[in-house]
Amino acid sequence: MTTSPTTNEDVNDSPKAEDLLRILESLDALVYVSDMHSHEMLFINAYGRQRWGAPNGRKCWQVLQDGQSGPCDFCTNPQLLGADGHPPPTIVWEFRNTRDGRWYQCRDQAMQWHDGRMVRVEIATDITERKTLEEALKASNQQTRKLAYRDDLTQLPNRRAFFESYRKQMETLTPDQPLALVLIDLDHFKMVNDVRGHAAGDHVLKVVAELFQAQLKPLDILCRLGGEEFALVLPNTSLPCATALAKRLHEALRSHTMEYAGQPFLVTASLGVAATTCAEADLNDMLKAADRAMYRAKAQGRDQVCSEALSSQNESRPE
Ligand code: GH3
Ligand code: MG
Ligand code: MG
Repeated sequence: MTTSPTTNEDVNDSPKAEDLLRILESLDALVYVSDMHSHEMLFINAYGRQRWGAPNGRKCWQVLQDGQSGPCDFCTNPQLLGADGHPPPTIVWEFRNTRDGRWYQCRDQAMQWHDGRMVRVEIATDITERKTLEEALKASNQQTRKLAYRDDLTQLPNRRAFFESYRKQMETLTPDQPLALVLIDLDHFKMVNDVRGHAAGDHVLKVVAELFQAQLKPLDILCRLGGEEFALVLPNTSLPCATALAKRLHEALRSHTMEYAGQPFLVTASLGVAATTCAEADLNDMLKAADRAMYRAKAQGRDQVCSEALSSQNESRPE
């Protein structure tokens, strides 16, 4: 079989107006044309008529949207005519239709109608499945992030969240604002596990988290660093204020009677406080200073608060 070369006759074989209409009518997408000035719906293909009905002389916002008493405030018409009179490239946007609740990707452009007026042409494809998947993925990412940054037992931010919170605080505070860090280690916690069982230890950790949280302001960040150790980041808090708060936490814990399996008992903690101005607040230095203060509290007999200031030269100076 031979193929004949292209002739003028082939050009005459190009689709006729009725074929073009048939293409538009069988498309699996909404195609409509509306007057850019009056918003009158001039054409809507079969896909559109099936979902939104025949235009019957109505305006695009009356046909396609619910609850409109005038042109939609999200109408892209103003963007479709460039300031220099030349139409800008097609505008592509995504929208959840107010009548059928489905998501569409809309491709809008301006063109001249046969009678000279400017009209908008929109081709809209249903992207609801893609949107549903995207939303499920977003929710799942949020859940994963929540799990990655939260301690399962106490529901407090975990060690990873602590480092991130500290970094964020450093970015937010002005250089002259103080920042304080409190490290909290429960005393003889191994004994709680050994004497009352691991579940009792877990219960204590949860109660401690709740007790401390109840004493804090929304901007104070309490984290569980791991085991029976907690850290508290206190933005815009000086050493005396942080020490006073640490003493309140210490007192709240030691005066609270724990109860597990019907048995009452007491739990205490050793707390180390460090503070500096934000400009000098290197996390390592802060952790070291708070750790030194906390170990001093342990060494001096536990069940107490010790603090340490970081001097402007970053030299630590025990209080
Ligand atoms: P110190 O006063 O010197 O801090 O003594 P301590 O017993 O509190 O410290 P140590 O480091 O010897 O023991 C900590 C214990 O905490 C040991 C570990 O089994 C327990 N622990 C760590 N994580 C958990 C947990 O998630 N649940 C429970 N129940 N126990 C935990
Ligand atoms: Mg410990
Ligand atoms: Mg301990």
